Amino acid sequence: MTQHALSALRWHVDAGADEAVDETPRNRFAVAPRAAAPPSPPAPTQTGRSPVVATETAESVLQTAREAAAACDDLDALRTALAEFDGCALRATAKSLVFGDGNPAAPLMLVGEAPGADEDREGRPFVGVSGQLLDRMLAAIGQDRTGAYITNILPWRPPGNRKPTPAEILLCQPFVERHIELVAPKLLVFVGGTAASTLLDRTEGITRLRGRWLAWREIPVMAIYHPAYLLRQPALKKHAWKDMRAIQQKLES
Ligand code: URA
Repeated sequence: MTQHALSALRWHVDAGADEAVDETPRNRFAVAPRAAAPPSPPAPTQTGRSPVVATETAESVLQTAREAAAACDDLDALRTALAEFDGCALRATAKSLVFGDGNPAAPLMLVGEAPGADEDREGRPFVGVSGQLLDRMLAAIGQDRTGAYITNILPWRPPGNRKPTPAEILLCQPFVERHIELVAPKLLVFVGGTAASTLLDRTEGITRLRGRWLAWREIPVMAIYHPAYLLRQPALKKHAWKDMRAIQQKLES
């Protein structure tokens, strides 16, 4: 590969375009033909259901998500329902469905934002560098993944680790809410601002939401700084430590 091609490739990766979506390249600058043929009906998916088409409104996709999630009576059913849900475009670019990790019978459940590249590769949440810090934060209060269960708001990696869009979050929310209902933990920890503001339906950022007990449908919630943020702002670790101690005390009470 020439130096030119290599630096163009690096530029694309830095810009977040690090996934090959199609087998063959497409010239997106090509002029579109004037009279496009009418679109052919979408091919059924492996599950036999039609993929979401442009005519389906966002509201009806959301309704599909709500009904699919509500119909699940256990975690296996929820995993299958998510795998079959084709209303969120992230499914097409992700390698894996990152469902959950740890012990679903544990009293402690953590909810993060979305898988990154490492999680997408392994199919497990929080296995990259921020996951390693999260494991150390848990270890500091005598916990590990045998005593905790971990999932994310989104089960699919947003390409290039970009922030999930509000629409992606909204479509996946019925599934993560059902996930929490099915695990029914004693305590919830929302890891980072996206999980906290989404599930608590609050507009404040994590700096305001962390550090005090809140509730998600009667389950006590502590929102904590995301470990990825702590890696960039290590001075905030002292606050995270206070929050972890509060979680430990509540677990022991
Ligand atoms: N960040 C998250 O919020 N979740 C993961 O699984 C990994 C990184």
